[in-house]
Amino acid sequence: MISLKNVSKWYGHFQVLTDCSTIVQKGEVVVVCGPSGSGKSTLIKTVNGLEPVQKGEIEVNGTQVNSKRTNLAQLRAHVGMVFQHFELFPHLTIIENLTLAQVKVLKRGKAEARQKGEKLLERVGLTAHASKYPAQLSGGQQQRVAIARALCMDPVAMLFDEPTSALDPEMINEVLDVMVELAQEGMTMMVVTHEMGFARKVANRVIFMDEGKIVEDAPKDAFFDNPKSPRARDFLDKIL
Ligand code: ADP
Ligand code: MG
Repeated sequence: MISLKNVSKWYGHFQVLTDCSTIVQKGEVVVVCGPSGSGKSTLIKTVNGLEPVQKGEIEVNGTQVNSKRTNLAQLRAHVGMVFQHFELFPHLTIIENLTLAQVKVLKRGKAEARQKGEKLLERVGLTAHASKYPAQLSGGQQQRVAIARALCMDPVAMLFDEPTSALDPEMINEVLDVMVELAQEGMTMMVVTHEMGFARKVANRVIFMDEGKIVEDAPKDAFFDNPKSPRARDFLDKIL
């Protein structure tokens, strides 16, 4: 579903990604972790073309991402992305947040879009909040709306960049629960997170990054029980 081949990227003279390669199969859940500044956000943003790269190949669901001929808006419509900060439209109600892109990008009719929005709102347990504005919801609720909004587009894969890092501790689990459910239903997911409980529960593989490189890419159990690189071991010692 997602393939990165020797991806390298520079910001000016600073090389932020060096020769990153990995393959995420359909239905796989891959957790990306590593120290702050190691390039996790940059890597995940290259997958839907939010960050262009200077070298390497990226393919999503058969579409070449870094090709001039690719319609990035079309690609992004089908690759859901959820960020640390929920980025809901503040001036739109929750249900309007869920229907806007369906109508504008997928050209769905208003009634169909609304129905889909309501269905996904129910799924994340927020039916009662449809007519509220984002600011009236807690952080955890807003993040669940952000996930529902991405799901409204029938994504082929979901990308998450530290979706719980900005949340108060008591709200982390309500968001992780939604993500666990998604994973168990077979959604293809790349998740940047330091929530190792989540990784242990649903990840197929863990990627560990350091200084722009994929230092380790291993099945979950191998990663946790026996990390190969000293840097990954050191990282796990610090956060577990
Ligand atoms: P992570 O998500 O692992 O914390 P990032 O991908 O955000 O890491 O950043 C990796 C490195 O690239 C950091 O050193 C960061 O300062 C740098 N960086 C990120 N975005 C930019 C940018 N737009 N311009 C220049 N440097 C950047
Ligand atoms: Mg980051």
